[in-house]
Parts: sequence; C-alpha cells; structure tokens
Amino acid sequence: MIQVNENFLKLQAGYLFPEIGRRVRAFAAANPNAKIIRLGIGDVTEPLPPAIIQAMHKAVDDMASGETFKGYGPEQGYDFLINAIIENDYKSRGVSLDTDEVFVSDGSKCDTGNFQEILGVANRIAVTDPVYPVYVDTNVMAGRTGEYDQAKSQYGKIVYMPCNADNNFVPALPSEPVDIIYLCYPNNPTGAVATKAELAKWVAWAKANKAIILFDAAYESFISDPAIPHSIYEIDGAKDVAVEFRSYSKTAGFTGLRCAFTVVPKTVKAYTSSGKEVAINPIWSRRHTTKFNGASYISQAAAAAVYSPQGKKEVRQIIDIYMNNAAVIRKSLSALGYSVYGGVNAPYIWLKTPGGLTSWQFFDKLLGEINVVGTPGSGFGPSGEGYFRLSAFGKPENVIEAMERFKKLKF
Ligand code: PLP
Repeated sequence: MIQVNENFLKLQAGYLFPEIGRRVRAFAAANPNAKIIRLGIGDVTEPLPPAIIQAMHKAVDDMASGETFKGYGPEQGYDFLINAIIENDYKSRGVSLDTDEVFVSDGSKCDTGNFQEILGVANRIAVTDPVYPVYVDTNVMAGRTGEYDQAKSQYGKIVYMPCNADNNFVPALPSEPVDIIYLCYPNNPTGAVATKAELAKWVAWAKANKAIILFDAAYESFISDPAIPHSIYEIDGAKDVAVEFRSYSKTAGFTGLRCAFTVVPKTVKAYTSSGKEVAINPIWSRRHTTKFNGASYISQAAAAAVYSPQGKKEVRQIIDIYMNNAAVIRKSLSALGYSVYGGVNAPYIWLKTPGGLTSWQFFDKLLGEINVVGTPGSGFGPSGEGYFRLSAFGKPENVIEAMERFKKLKF
C-alpha cells in the first residue's frame, strides 16, 4: 500500500495570500466600479531594464547560432556570471570567494527551501517571528516537527524568535540550543535591517555553539545606509558559519525570469553523529548537481548584464522608484500618526495597526473603505498580529493615490 509522506499533512494551510485573493475578489465582484490599489504582494511592477533585455536578445541569438549554441550548461552556473558575482557583490566589499563557493540557481525560494535537506533531520531550527514562511514549511516537510532528543535521534523542532518594535525587529540570541538559524536582513516582512554589531553577535554565537546561519540577503540592494552590511561575510568569521542567499528577483525585476545564487564557503562545517567535522560545500555541490541542471543560459546572461555599467545604472533607477514609493508611504503614514517601521533600507513598510485593530480587521477596513490592499502581519507569524505590511513595489501614481485615500479612513 502506497504511503504518503505524513510530514506534508502537518503543514498549515497556505492561508495568507489565497485568503487575501478571496477577500479582494469578493469585494471587487460586489463593487465593480471600485479602483483597487494593490500594495500587498511583493512583486515588481517595473519592466526589465533595457540593458538586460538587450543581453537576453543576444543570448537568444547565441542559442540560435551553430557557432555558439548552448546546450546543458554547468549545473553550478556559467563562469561569466560567477566571476561577475564575486567581483561586484563580494570583492568590492572586501570579501574574497572562490568560484566553487558560488552556486547559481533559478531562485532563492528554492535555495532557502532546499538547503535544509543536506542538514540532519534532528537539527533544531531557529526562525524569526514574523518570518518568510518558506523556511518554516520546508523544515516541516522534512519532519523537523517533534521534540529534539539526540540520544533517541528524534526529529528536530522549530523555535520561534519574536521580533517586535521593542527589539527593533532583530531577535535576541536564542535562550535554548539551536543548530540552524535563519536570518533575513533587510527583512521581509518587517523591512528591518541588522547592523554589523548585531550580525557579529550572531556569528559569535553560531561559532560558540557549532551552529550554522542561513542568511537570506534577497533585499540587500535596497540598502541605502552605508553602515548597514549587504553581506554577512562583511562580519569577521562569518565565512566559517554562514551560507548566504541572493536573488535577482527584486534587485533587477527577475521575478518572472528567475535567477539567484547561494554562497557556501568551503570553511563552513557541520558534524556527523560521531562528532566528525564535515565541510558542507561539497555536499551542497553534490546535491545541486544531482537535482538541478542549471539556470537557463538566457537568465544567466541577463543576470550578468546586471553588473555591466549600463545595467547597474538602470537597475539603480528602478530601485530608486520603489524606494521613493517607500519614502512616500513612510512620510504620509507618519504624518497621519501611524507607527511606521522599515521602508528605509527595504521595500517593505511595517506599520502598527491603529486603534487596537487586529491585522485582518485592518485589512478589511482598508479594502472596504479606501479600496487599498495590503498584507496582514499575522499571516507571517503570531508576533505579526497587530501589524500590517505595505509593499513599495507599485506604480508611483498608485502609491500617491493610496496615501491620499488613507486620509479618508474613519476611526
Ligand atoms: N527570500 C525572501 C525573504 C523573499 O521575500 C523572497 C521573495 O519574495 C525570496 C527569498 C524568493 O525569491 P526568488 O524569487 O529568488 O525565489
């Protein structure tokens, strides 16, 4: 008799975005003339920049030509892209990496979701609360849902680290033992950033406790404050304990095109049950090359164009559009008396719901009274209750109009 993997039955229903969609559709059907402004889902709204389109056209011609026809590429990524990543994203920040420490893929969702697979099922996982749900769900799928007991080799568990205004949305160090720590800065959903001093504490803790940090830097290109680190490897010693995920999705409008990469330094170690030290780079390489056949040549050629002088300029212009939106939202809502967080070094604004409303009550009020869609904070975890996320990805005229409409909300 065929058996199902029962871990999948332990997942919480994918509730947040389907429920938002359901409520918005119902409202639109009942109010066909309402002009709904969507600042909910964090998807890009600007088209790909011209330098990237041009690189893709050239890549298509390469694939059409008998001379330069590209079949299967290297699973880990083409050297032209890996070298551009090392040079532009890391060397420029004083971080040196070898080419076999960078793994190109088709998305950070897959990479952040898949990475846990090479780490033991008995590991204890620490995640922030609120959190990008992929980290939690993929660990539940892997069976890290029970109480941890090394002697009995029981399954690992997930430990939530509350993040709120009191701790600036950067969690306190764990008060119980954990082995894998997911950190995401700049943060989705809170828009918070972590300083070098804060990350240094985590790196030191991971070293002292033989833990690994999985650092999601999908939003690093939105950092404007020069003091905020873009990479965890800007912290001394991080190359011994941290894996870093980066994506072109939000940086350069690749949400539909797909390209990302993961850095796995050869110095990051995990341990066998008998305590023997093992480098995880070759294990991730083995997993990646076995289960993945490389991001498409066209996507990688497009990603390499992000680093050309023209590409850098055009990508910056688009990021500036989104960050101007963020500034408009912050300024307008602060002037209306809201407590507003994020939106300075990240494309998300996290606000305290007014008048003690729950996240969903505020969602319904915004949709019903001013036809603006955001994301209820409680959908990202219990500590998100009483908060609300607005995304800065949107057309500037829509953002300005949404802010005008906020003035009309009645309390
Ligand atoms: N990490 C975070 C925190 C995200 O918010 C997202 C996308 O929303 C991703 C990773 C996934 O990005 P990608 O499009 O590369 O899969």
